[in-house]
Amino acid sequence: MEIFAFWALLALLVGVLASSFGRNGFGWFLIALVLSPLIGGVALLIAGKKDGGASQRASGPTMKCPECREEILQEARVCKHCGHRLLTPEEALARESAASIRVRNRRLLALAIVGAMAYIIYNSNT
Ligand SMILES: [Zn+2]
Repeated sequence: MEIFAFWALLALLVGVLASSFGRNGFGWFLIALVLSPLIGGVALLIAGKKDGGASQRASGPTMKCPECREEILQEARVCKHCGHRLLTPEEALARESAASIRVRNRRLLALAIVGAMAYIIYNSNT
């Protein structure tokens, strides 16, 4: 019975370790319980952490920071190397469309002024 308690405890440890590795803790606990804590533990160590070191590295498309030319994630908001604030594609698009709306408004205003002047000149001549 004591052996079984020790066995279960080790299996539980494997489960806890598994969940700390970003894996299914209960699943690994069951594996360790059924097969053996040793096999479960070794299998877990072989399987390693989920994603391995990939989460440390850039996960996803990267680009170069316009400020310091370092490699950064495309979805990064701020450059991790120099702290340069980066625009998201949506922000860039919004800024661009806002600028184009401003230009259009200015054109409309100019057109309105020219139209008003033409109207005034036309009326004053007749
Ligand atoms: Zn930078």
